Amino acid sequence: MTSDIVMELPSWCDDCETWHQEFIWAHADGTYSSCDSDGDHEPIDEADIPSWEEHERLWREYTEWVLERGEDPLGNFFVRYSIKVKERWPGGPDQESLAGQRRQHGVSVQPETVTEHAFV
Ligand SMILES: [Zn+2]
Repeated sequence: MTSDIVMELPSWCDDCETWHQEFIWAHADGTYSSCDSDGDHEPIDEADIPSWEEHERLWREYTEWVLERGEDPLGNFFVRYSIKVKERWPGGPDQESLAGQRRQHGVSVQPETVTEHAFV
């Protein structure tokens, strides 16, 4: 079963008092789950996926926080990157796949490539 990240969000963590990157995953069986860089992983309903308005609002909130604090815990402004992750899930979000997902996140950060079109 193949899973894809459909959305990346900044997510404030009260425990760590900082931001975590949250990923919304779409799975081949039509289910969704959410995973943040804390390792929290939970299934979510399609209806609970943040809207694009919410997505924009959270990134604005994060941007304002970065400008205020001069810190960029998600590396969003000082190090730009894109993440491409394909993962095979053996049997759903159990501990084994969670560990695999952490490893996956660790190695799959790719430098962002920007394609620019010159005038023809
Ligand atoms: Zn945390």
